[in-house]
Amino acid sequence: MGTPHEAAAQENTMKEWRTRIGLEVHVQLTALKTKLFCGCSADYRGKPPNTLVCPVCLGLPGALPVLNRKALEYAVMAALALNCKVSRRMMFFRKNYFYIDLPKNFQISQYDRAGGVPLATDGFLHIDVDGRRKKVRIRRVHLEEDPGRLVHLGPIGESPYTLVDYNRAGVALLEIVTEPDLESPKEARIFLRKLRSILEHLGIFDGSLEGAMRCDANISIAGGARVEIKNISSFKEVERALAFEIMRQRDLLEKGLTVRRETRHWDEVRRITISLRTKEEEQDYRYFPEPDLVPVVITEEFIQAIKDRMPELPEERVQRFMREYGLPRYDAEVLVSDKALADFFEQCVALYHKPKVISNWMMSDLLRSLYEHNLELSEAKITPEHLVEMIRLIDEGVISGKIGKRILPKMVLTGKRPGEIVKEEGLVKITSRKLLEELVDQVFRENPKAVRDALQNEKAIHYLIGQLMRKTRGKADPQLTNQIIREKLERIQGSEFRPPPGPSPSEGA
Ligand code: ZN
Ligand code: MN
Repeated sequence: MGTPHEAAAQENTMKEWRTRIGLEVHVQLTALKTKLFCGCSADYRGKPPNTLVCPVCLGLPGALPVLNRKALEYAVMAALALNCKVSRRMMFFRKNYFYIDLPKNFQISQYDRAGGVPLATDGFLHIDVDGRRKKVRIRRVHLEEDPGRLVHLGPIGESPYTLVDYNRAGVALLEIVTEPDLESPKEARIFLRKLRSILEHLGIFDGSLEGAMRCDANISIAGGARVEIKNISSFKEVERALAFEIMRQRDLLEKGLTVRRETRHWDEVRRITISLRTKEEEQDYRYFPEPDLVPVVITEEFIQAIKDRMPELPEERVQRFMREYGLPRYDAEVLVSDKALADFFEQCVALYHKPKVISNWMMSDLLRSLYEHNLELSEAKITPEHLVEMIRLIDEGVISGKIGKRILPKMVLTGKRPGEIVKEEGLVKITSRKLLEELVDQVFRENPKAVRDALQNEKAIHYLIGQLMRKTRGKADPQLTNQIIREKLERIQGSEFRPPPGPSPSEGA
């Protein structure tokens, strides 16, 4: 047991189990008003089906696509933020496959062979994992069009029919492909979160929109076959899907079986991956240059103009939060990891210049409340004005910090002003000395043993304070309560020892 030799063998096994994960992320450029190759509105969510369509995005014969210049700008912006080399001359390619969501039977995309180059290549992103900085290489970034949307009545397997809505067909997508540099499901989640924050800071993407970021992951362990998991819908799901897949593959390998190269589907409900098909080969897509679009030439001036207009990126914002607001790096990173959170923070600070206090409330109670209700900040009803009002109520001594903790989740869910909740529920802090003295006497009578302990041992006072807080549901002014309890204990100590006090004079009357 535990010989050096065995330890080495175990380490070898660990190495052999090495997990390699690569991501292929599809991101809609949601800030665009129109589609990638036509003037139809790209704002398809909640619109009546098949109303935002034209001959181009329906693929009618003779219709000719024209590249959306703004889409190219945004894509270059993203490529630069991901430290990529931007191609100076590129073409679009047709990726052919037959499927009902694809009216032309091909997707206009880009290809990195047969004379094709993607929009950008060879980038990287740094992520921080458990205090360690790690470089994740980005293989390529390219532009392509989104297919239409299939709509089912209930679960896909039970729906009697499939409906198709082409409003989404032709919406601009950025495809971002990493090298297989990620080594755990957690790293994949951190990478995606960072990517989302960068794209949001660029102002080209809103990740809170449903389906705006979709992810495929390929994963292999112990140098075995690569398995692709398709269309995972969210950060949490990526982590879960990958964790399941690692388990499944290890299990096979441990039994001496081999992992098949295939495409699998993540079933969110059952939380398992299911075999979909053995992966089609690239040649099945019969890529060829899109003859209806001219090659795109990207000039030095075009790139420079974009560089000059680059907004503040997350890494710079973290630095600024530390410098301008005196936040610790940890706070700054948590806040900036989500643009909405960082914006919320700055709006609060503009209203009330107490950055660290605001950051504390956001990082502990606000985030916990969002997490518990599975909400994004944008879905929550709380506003910066309301959070600041709550902190002011505490600072002014109207409510205790404990009450703040109690009402914050209500503010998140209902959008009610803290002052209103406090009034409705009678949560104003008890600061009346007379009332608190009466309550302390009650607590003393009810806890004679604790009073005796407190006379011997300073620490036992906390128990008495706790009892009083329970009685007042956290409303007692903590400082005043502490003071009164100490005074009364001193008085007891001062008079010669006698068993726990009887009714106080005020009550005896
Ligand atoms: Zn159209
Ligand atoms: Mn794609």
